Amino acid sequence: MKRLILIAAAALALSSCSVLQNLNSERLLQGGVYAVQALQLSDDEVVEYVRQYVTQLDAQSVVLPETNAYTKRLRKLTSKLDGVNEMPLNFKVYKNNEINAFACADGSVRVYTGIMDAMTDDELLGVIGHEMGHVALHHTRKQMQKQMLTSAALQGLASTGDKMAALTDSQFGALTEVILNAKFSRSMETEADDYGYNYLCEAGKNPWAMVKSFEKMQALENGTQAQQSAVANLFSSHPDTQARIDHISQRCLNDGYKR
Ligand SMILES: [Zn+2]
Repeated sequence: MKRLILIAAAALALSSCSVLQNLNSERLLQGGVYAVQALQLSDDEVVEYVRQYVTQLDAQSVVLPETNAYTKRLRKLTSKLDGVNEMPLNFKVYKNNEINAFACADGSVRVYTGIMDAMTDDELLGVIGHEMGHVALHHTRKQMQKQMLTSAALQGLASTGDKMAALTDSQFGALTEVILNAKFSRSMETEADDYGYNYLCEAGKNPWAMVKSFEKMQALENGTQAQQSAVANLFSSHPDTQARIDHISQRCLNDGYKR
């Protein structure tokens, strides 16, 4: 047990999660069990859990067919995006007015019709580039490992060893928190913005598109009640829009791009 606690302490030291700091000693001991599993969680296992989650999320969402104009637009836009870190990407459009998009550790990228309506092609590519950055830079995997330190529901998932089993409601809920509503650190968000910026430049696009997408999001956040609620999830996970605008604008200026 001493060794278990040591591992738990090491895991706690690695994490800056404020939730962890509030754990009482009993939870800490339990946390030791989670910690061991989180530290042992391989990339392949993370991908497997995430894939199961996305399969269920797709089944619960309205996925637009290949023949739909939104899907065709996304296919055209992402035709050169084969993968990140040698992992193939798969794109789907959700019919949903929310202004949102997310990329998962298994290479699944989901884009809502709401954000496709709000953005131009290049702006949308900037958003997708940012989300891909979270995957490429292993932010999504780190968040998952962190979540496994604290989530009893996910601890159950790890202990079954039955990776292809359907997720229970509580497991699905816990994974929604870590995948769909993921909150990354400020530095991770900056790294993902930089990744998106580099991606746009390499694709021959004008990176000012990224700044324009931030400005649109900012305008929506200050817009009507309906606009505010459409963009609420994206904003709660991506605060400090002005700082993001300033940072990417500065990079555009430094690299000599004209707005
Ligand atoms: Zn982000």
